[in-house]
Amino acid sequence: MNRHLALIQQASKAINLKAIMAMPSENHTLSATDAALATLLRRAEPCLWLNPRRQAVLPRAQPVAGSSIGLDDTRAAAARFARFAPLLARLFPELQATAGVIESPLLPASGLHVGQGRLWLKADHLLPVAGSIKARGGMHEVLEFAERLALRHGLIGAQAGPDDYLALASPAARALFARHTVAVGSTGNLGLSIGVAASALGFSAVVHMSLEAKEWKKERLRQRGVQVVEHAGDYEAAVAAGRAQAAQDPFSHFVDDERSLSLLLGYSAAALHLQGQLRDAGIAVDAEHPLFVYLPCGVGGAPAGITFGLRQVLGPHVHCFFAEPVQSPCFMLQMMAGQGAHPSVYDWGLSNQTEADGLAVPRASLPAAELMESLLSGCFTVHDDTLFRQLVQVLDATGERIEPSAAAGFGGPAMLTGSDSGRPWLAEQGLQQHLARATHLVWTTGGLFVPPDEYERFVQRGRALS
Ligand SMILES: *Cc1c(COP(=O)(O)O)cnc(C)c1O
Repeated sequence: MNRHLALIQQASKAINLKAIMAMPSENHTLSATDAALATLLRRAEPCLWLNPRRQAVLPRAQPVAGSSIGLDDTRAAAARFARFAPLLARLFPELQATAGVIESPLLPASGLHVGQGRLWLKADHLLPVAGSIKARGGMHEVLEFAERLALRHGLIGAQAGPDDYLALASPAARALFARHTVAVGSTGNLGLSIGVAASALGFSAVVHMSLEAKEWKKERLRQRGVQVVEHAGDYEAAVAAGRAQAAQDPFSHFVDDERSLSLLLGYSAAALHLQGQLRDAGIAVDAEHPLFVYLPCGVGGAPAGITFGLRQVLGPHVHCFFAEPVQSPCFMLQMMAGQGAHPSVYDWGLSNQTEADGLAVPRASLPAAELMESLLSGCFTVHDDTLFRQLVQVLDATGERIEPSAAAGFGGPAMLTGSDSGRPWLAEQGLQQHLARATHLVWTTGGLFVPPDEYERFVQRGRALS
């Protein structure tokens, strides 16, 4: 073996040990459950981690990244979307029908569920403008940046209402925005959202794409005049390159997927809308009617923002679980390691190779993980093959077309009710006896703009596996 490689492997063994030692267990020995989980993780086998630090009752504000956020911040993000709605309806023809509101339907999907309770989809694969969940966080951060500039330059006043925001489409506003660049590093979907939103407002936009990013996503951006910088490295490398380049330019705003609170709060606003949808659908969330939400997770910003919103709005009886590919379980590793550590999937001998391009992230967002410390119920992992099988099941049962990343949540109910770690947890939490009246909500996070031939290949792969 090449000596260099051997050294790297030695080093990574040392890091593995450190990650395990950092796990919250008394006297630093692994419990039998943690040891079994570590084995499955290392073998890239599907597994479930349950959060021992979850709290049912929450303080009004949650600490994150040296500050704290609460329901007011989520409401402020929702109010920002509302202020921008008339402008968005003018900039995006596809938003005319909803008067500028970017939201997704809540769809029943009982045909997909064999266990107890009911299954629903939160259909972010239909979100207009970006075609994925990134229409929430990405759009919010671009709007917040545009709003800050417009206020500073007197294009709108502090008391401006939604109709006043139409001034941001004026030549003067566009000239201001054109002097600024919005940049981002992404595996694809965030770049698509930021690039489309920023260029529509008149910003110059630069998207740093990682290795996994699909050609059609780059092409879609180039067609809108967005500068696409291709990187040979993974997601982390693309983000680092974008961050470094933007730091050189005072007129550049970098949307930092690994650190941004604006992204997180943009995602969290989904909770307020979902609360109304649940009410309209007659779905109760209380001790007798638990709600389980399954969210595909990459760096963790989107699912953490939504979980943050849901826990504040719906209380202790909503249980959120993050779903990750078996080769990219960065959030699970981060939650196991706890604060102070920052493990990478490579340290665990995993490859970060997955067809779920939106989830191909080697290391979690630290603010997202910090925020999830007391809010999240657990994380689980999924094989790529399962994603394709589930993508086909979704098509056959509902006619909905989702991308592979968006299928990650479907294994959630079976993970809880059918695994050796899930069953005791359900019993211990007093949930087992309420499963017949439970709601399972799978967040389908992307798919609208997948080209038909690409989608057809996903379907063929899924059918071949079924
Ligand atoms: C980005 C993305 C996610 C996860 O969001 P993170 O903030 O990276 O955790 C899930 N599904 C799809 C389709 C995505 O594009």
